[in-house]
Parts: sequence; structure tokens; C-alpha cells
Amino acid sequence: MSELATDSTSPTPAKPQPVPSALTQPYWDAARRGQLVLQQCSACATIRHYPRLLCAHCHSADAHWTPASGRGHIHSWTVCHHVFHPGFAADVPYVLVTVDLQEGVRALGRWRGNKLAIGLPVRGCFEAMGDVAQLVFSPEPSQDNS
Ligand SMILES: [Zn+2]
Repeated sequence: MSELATDSTSPTPAKPQPVPSALTQPYWDAARRGQLVLQQCSACATIRHYPRLLCAHCHSADAHWTPASGRGHIHSWTVCHHVFHPGFAADVPYVLVTVDLQEGVRALGRWRGNKLAIGLPVRGCFEAMGDVAQLVFSPEPSQDNS
């Protein structure tokens, strides 16, 4: 069965939703509360994103979740024009940014702003998307006055 099957009573197909696993459930739970959390190795303190079973630095399986600032700088972006799922047809074109977070990891999110520049200071927050919350970034407020 195709995952692109649509409900014939709905004119707009629903967007596919992330399916939390035991590994990622704490991230999605925090996201619904509007908080960005990152996995941190309990042995060597290395922060990692996306969640993984083992630390890439010391190979420890012990980890905990730590709050993150959500602040960082734009690493890159892409403007999405092609619809890979009909649920996103009304969204195109939209921008995805990769952001180097202050915590030293890179995160992907939707862009909510006009001005785009490599290195632009940004702040992340969460927006509801169905049963989950998605990470979105916008310029730091101080950048709006420049
Ligand atoms: Zn480690």
C-alpha cells in the first residue's frame, strides 16, 4: 500500500508526520512543549543531533537530554519548489535552513523570515504541525532593526 494514499473526502492530503521512536520520543515531547532539547553523551559531554544510539566521539551508549538555546547562525538554505508529497503542495515555495547551533551541532528547520544570509544570527522555535511540532527559525530580533 502506498503511503501517498489520500482520503477521498479531503481535498488536501495530510502532511506526513514524524513517527517518534523510543530514541526520539524525548525530542518530540519537548518540541510539543516548545522546548528544543539535544542529546548529550553522559560519558564525555559531547552534544549530538540528530539523536543516535551511540556517541560518535567515545562510543558510549549513555546519554541524557539537555535544553538548547535555539540560537545559532545560518549555515545554508534551500528553496523548495518541487512537491515530493501532495500534503506540501500549498506550501511551495518554502525555505529550509541548516543552522549551526551555539551548542555546536547543526539543525534543519523551516525558515520564517525575509532576509537570508550565510552567518545570519537566528533563533529557533516550534510551530504545531498536526500531532507534532516542527522546528522553525527566524532572524534574531536584533537583526530586524538593521
Ligand atoms: Zn561520548
